[in-house]
Amino acid sequence: MDEKIDDMMPVAEFIDENYKGSGKLHGKSVLISGGDSGIGRAAALYAAREGANIAIIYHTDEDRANDTRKAIEGEGTEALVIQADVGRSAACDAAVGEVIEKFGTLDVLINNAGFQKPYASLTDISDEDWIAHFEVNMHGMFYLARAALPHLGKGASIINTTSVNAFAGNKHLVPYTATKGAITGFTRALALQLVEQGIRVNEVAPGPVVTPIQLAFKGYDDDIIKNMGDTTPMQRIGQPRELGPAYVYLACNDSSFVTGQTLHVNGGMIVNG
Ligand code: NAD
Repeated sequence: MDEKIDDMMPVAEFIDENYKGSGKLHGKSVLISGGDSGIGRAAALYAAREGANIAIIYHTDEDRANDTRKAIEGEGTEALVIQADVGRSAACDAAVGEVIEKFGTLDVLINNAGFQKPYASLTDISDEDWIAHFEVNMHGMFYLARAALPHLGKGASIINTTSVNAFAGNKHLVPYTATKGAITGFTRALALQLVEQGIRVNEVAPGPVVTPIQLAFKGYDDDIIKNMGDTTPMQRIGQPRELGPAYVYLACNDSSFVTGQTLHVNGGMIVNG
């Protein structure tokens, strides 16, 4: 299910069709915020191929969410599609409730919903815009993790999506980058708090990836979209399908000795962190 997002970007690819599942997540229940699109959709498809039942939270694009539902079901597992604004505490509580009602358990939470908006200067950022970044990118992770926790047992996994920008900085994305740094602190602290319960908490830090989130730069500076690949040592933008396996690794027992860590998937942009 490739997706043409924009003329300025390559076609987005969500799964490597040669990828063979081996039941690494067989019978597990996985909830993915922002699972309808981009990196979250790739995580959903790989986890489904590994045998998990998948619940996705989408915000506004119902058609896209239903396309993702069909693709998950095409992998032979069950799909649950939930509309919610992760910036709202009650909506996150309700979403987790729906997952438990449908699947009976929750084993993996992937906190992935996010949005970004570029600003040339700090003085261009309104209070509302600053708060909106934190509500979606950070508060949503807290709300979902708090709602999920009573249902998570030994062996469960929480995976948060941060960004290369938290480590490298991005002068155009100050509020976004601040939220992504907060996610790293949240991930590390929560990992230590939950270690005795046998629940692991890690994060994935993608570099530039072909997803609709990049369209935030449209009209601000189109060249940033066109030249995004030039920022990586590999001299190319990443595909969602190159991110999905990182989530599978952190979700399943292959990473049983890994917690509080950041998995950098970025074409070589970070080689020291
Ligand atoms: P995307 O635009 O494809 O996905 C963003 C997702 O967030 C969508 O599924 C959308 O439904 C969801 N979302 C947005 N606001 C929401 C809200 N209020 N409530 C619920 N859901 C909401 O972009 P993506 O690149 O796949 O983004 C996924 C994650 O990856 C984000 O956290 C993003 O910050 C991070 N990330 C992306 C890149 C990249 O280059 N694409 C790089 C680093 C990190």
